[in-house]
Amino acid sequence: MNQAVPREVIRLENVWKVFGNRAEEALRAIRTENLNKAEVLARFDCVVGVADVRITIQEGEIFCIMGLSGSGKSTLVRHINRLLEPTAGRIEVDDVDVMSLDAKTLRALRSQKIGMVFQNFGLMPHRTVRDNVALPLEVRSVGKTERWRRAETAISLVELDGWADKYAHELSGGMQQRVGLARALAADPDILLMDEPFSALDPLIRRQLQNQFMELSAKMKKTTVFITHDLDEAIRIGHRIAIMKEGQIVQIGTPEEIVTQPADDYVADFVAGISRLKLVFAHSIMQSIASFEASGGKVPDDAPCTGEETDLDHLIDLNISANGGPVLIEDVGGKLIGVVTGPDLLHGIQGQKE
Ligand code: ADP
Ligand code: MG
Repeated sequence: MNQAVPREVIRLENVWKVFGNRAEEALRAIRTENLNKAEVLARFDCVVGVADVRITIQEGEIFCIMGLSGSGKSTLVRHINRLLEPTAGRIEVDDVDVMSLDAKTLRALRSQKIGMVFQNFGLMPHRTVRDNVALPLEVRSVGKTERWRRAETAISLVELDGWADKYAHELSGGMQQRVGLARALAADPDILLMDEPFSALDPLIRRQLQNQFMELSAKMKKTTVFITHDLDEAIRIGHRIAIMKEGQIVQIGTPEEIVTQPADDYVADFVAGISRLKLVFAHSIMQSIASFEASGGKVPDDAPCTGEETDLDHLIDLNISANGGPVLIEDVGGKLIGVVTGPDLLHGIQGQKE
């Protein structure tokens, strides 16, 4: 049987963005002399925003971009709908080079194919919720009845029914951001670009919006580029995570790959504060039965048994239920492949030590 190959919706090839009057000249020097960001600033008075980024994002994927403030996340994402133009490189959306688009097609890309949500909501305070949500449709001259109908649907998706006639400034921050999301969804775009949408919100509200967004996202399956400076958020939300530093992507991987195999010290620093309980699985911490027995261990007859994809959190429960005794691990075929002891669990929680 043919396995469906996921479609690549967004493709960035060797994208560079250098800000400043001497950007081209600076980029030539970067390429020949391998200058870093500080050297480029000193010599050319130019700022490297994005440095040689290559990523492909698949249909329906939630792709998180994470990095410290100033690492180039916003600059990068703004290239996808050509709010910024690259100094070098190629950006494709649905196999079309966005730099080749004429003004009309570019407008359609921004208003129909791609929806964008910003950190500071970007609402018009003296417009109603309904008129804020309908704004992108209004710009496209969609008639009022149709506009309001579609706005109502989007408002309902973010669970703001009943709030349509309120003015944006009357709403709390969390609600305003739900309006921002509804506005991005109103045109039913294939792609969502979300630039730190929840960063300005209190932790509790942020958590609620993350949950709501994940539920919505599972239903709608839109291709999403989600920016955050918070690795916890990236891990909760992302299918894959790209970590940025000084304009470059230093690692791309699943949450488990990022947490268990950080590519360098920069990533390791982010990972250090992350709970591994739901991200580390039996197969990466178990020992063989042979080594367990060689060190004097004995498997009790009533030892609990579980699969190799069981996470640390659940393994700890099993270990406690066995009064601290070993937990047996089997593969999908039911074959015994290892054992996890109390110390194995502690090592798993701790992660690798240098
Ligand atoms: P992030 O979103 O990760 O916080 P940004 O993409 O906003 O980072 O910024 C990346 C780098 O590019 C920073 O050094 C920032 O100062 C610089 N930068 C962003 N926009 C501009 C601009 N319009 N002109 C000059 N430098 C800019
Ligand atoms: Mg930013």
